[in-house]
Amino acid sequence: MTLGEIATPALILDLPAFEANLAAMRQACAARGVRLRAHGKAHKTPELARRQIADGGSAGICAQKVAEAEAFVRAGIDDVLVANEVVADGTIDRLARLSATARMAVCVDDATVVPRLGAAVRRHGGTLGVVVEIDVGAGRCGVSPGTPAADLAATVAAEPGLRFAGLQAYHGAAQHLRTPDERAAAIARAVDLVRQSLAALERRGIPCPDVTGAGTGTFTLEAASGVYTEVQAGSYAFMDADYARNTPAEDAPAFAHALFVLATVMSTAGSGRAVVDAGHKAASIDTGLPVVHGRPEIAYVGASDEHGVVTDPASTLRLGDRLLLIPGHCDPTFNLHDHVVAVREGRVEAVFAVAARGKGW
Ligand SMILES: *Cc1c(COP(=O)(O)O)cnc(C)c1O
Repeated sequence: MTLGEIATPALILDLPAFEANLAAMRQACAARGVRLRAHGKAHKTPELARRQIADGGSAGICAQKVAEAEAFVRAGIDDVLVANEVVADGTIDRLARLSATARMAVCVDDATVVPRLGAAVRRHGGTLGVVVEIDVGAGRCGVSPGTPAADLAATVAAEPGLRFAGLQAYHGAAQHLRTPDERAAAIARAVDLVRQSLAALERRGIPCPDVTGAGTGTFTLEAASGVYTEVQAGSYAFMDADYARNTPAEDAPAFAHALFVLATVMSTAGSGRAVVDAGHKAASIDTGLPVVHGRPEIAYVGASDEHGVVTDPASTLRLGDRLLLIPGHCDPTFNLHDHVVAVREGRVEAVFAVAARGKGW
């Protein structure tokens, strides 16, 4: 099949661009001496995680939810960090079950969860890595850096069945600060808070195997910090429209747009505009509307459930014409699709199941 024959709206992966992004990230991490653990929440697609590990230098994968991790493990990925807190009994039990067959780790930011994790893991006969998450400025999850982080690590280290696996210091709010200077300032503060936490761990005699964190917007900073050992970037493989609004740092690798929503013009009845068959059920709009790829004269200006309104001042669009839309935000866009159509030079090479799509429990 060619692009022109695919039923729309369809999620499209440009394989050469995806492969180039994997190679650029692999080289960037290797050059800076840090491990990559790509974040699978970006794509929820086991085959793409498998390629990130096989070709992209990723040591394992991150998942954000246990059900997402289950989909990856079921597909044969055997090293997963749930880079998030898990607190419900049933979810802890499912995580512990995974820990009996795969190398699993999870974040904590509350000491009351630790004995519950330990009991569940012992019940299932596994071992679980536990990463203490610290809040390095994002104002989301995470204990305070320094002594509180070391106290929680000591609780983890004392719990049979659990292995203290290090610190998670992810600064989500820094990823989309637009200028390199703003991002550098935010990550410099984060690095300082990591250092305070490492010092507190050392005072208690607790070795810290890893410091994990970082996303596509800032990873070169964490990688160069001398304290982070692992990078969790996810969006780099796809590059959405929102990430393209960041001014890249000079030493950062260039990533190409690899993810698109293919849409068909379904109406030209209005004047000065056309309507495509991809609305916000095909491309997420939480960080802005899609951008039309390769057609700077056409702007996507309005999304409803199943319609996208595009400007067409010169009335060049015809019924049935196809447009490639760059989604505003790749992660929730993947979550809208059952399949991603992998294309090379305009021809379909494979169709991958977005197997963890909708798996948020
Ligand atoms: C989303 C996320 C990432 C990856 O961020 P990108 O911006 O997609 O590279 C890494 N770590 C955590 C904890 C995240 O939530």
